[in-house]
Amino acid sequence: MRTNEIVKRAAELKIAIPAFNIPYLPMMEPVVRAVEDEDTFGLLAVARLEWIKFESGSMAAVRHEYGRFAESKHVRLHLDHIPVIDEDDERVDYLAHIREALELGYESVMIDGSRLPFDENVEATARVVEAAHTAGVPVEAELGAVLGHEAEPSMSYEEIVATRTGFTDPEEAARFVHETRCDWLSVAFGNIHGHVSKALRDKEKVAARLDIEHLERIRAGAQVPLVLHGGSGISTAMMQDAIRAGIAKVNVGTDIRQVYERKLREAGGAARDAVYERTRELLREHFRISGMADRLLAR
Ligand SMILES: [Zn+2]
Repeated sequence: MRTNEIVKRAAELKIAIPAFNIPYLPMMEPVVRAVEDEDTFGLLAVARLEWIKFESGSMAAVRHEYGRFAESKHVRLHLDHIPVIDEDDERVDYLAHIREALELGYESVMIDGSRLPFDENVEATARVVEAAHTAGVPVEAELGAVLGHEAEPSMSYEEIVATRTGFTDPEEAARFVHETRCDWLSVAFGNIHGHVSKALRDKEKVAARLDIEHLERIRAGAQVPLVLHGGSGISTAMMQDAIRAGIAKVNVGTDIRQVYERKLREAGGAARDAVYERTRELLREHFRISGMADRLLAR
């Protein structure tokens, strides 16, 4: 079954598929094993900034590491954030990255045109959709702006929520999906990315406050499975509310990355075990999808 059908099934079942980011290659094995041992389903993901600012190496290195451990009943490989303009305001040759991912066998891809004006975001996303759909691969896009990756945040989290800065506009979401034919949409409604700059990446994330009513309006407009970026630092109750309101995929980066980095600093060898335990805990208690593999993948 293709990833697109699995995410649609998740939306019908009112559960969310977690996508675990892999900023360090040794995190791959324990995350895959945790998903398998919980007999559920998850995506393994890498974003461009994780091979530039962290240690995942390259898209090909992640693909190779994935191939050593993965089997398709429980996991698939996803390409996260390929920005058109990145967090440091640099232009990116996004189509070249997407084409490379398709050749390597990534099973879903994300294009992030959220730093562009609406029409340019539509244009870039539509190009990626054309290339990916020709290869039978679904596309996630972003509308609105999930902040937090910037090295020097322009405003505090309190200000973002109070002013609804970057929040996805429900009517624009409807137009965007219609015009781009993207399969999943990453939306902003109070969620925030974890820090990635060296100075801030150890900081604990703020406890996010999601605007569930706003999410419901986006969902009514967009009519496709919605994606929550910045999935770390959200309480289980709030996460479950968001899932009931239309979130069908959740990106998890900071949570398991910080577990790994902290353990590496104190104990060395136990870092991968810590990632394994934390991933199982998230699947069981936070996402509550243990034992769901058969239901998600049944024809
Ligand atoms: Zn993101």
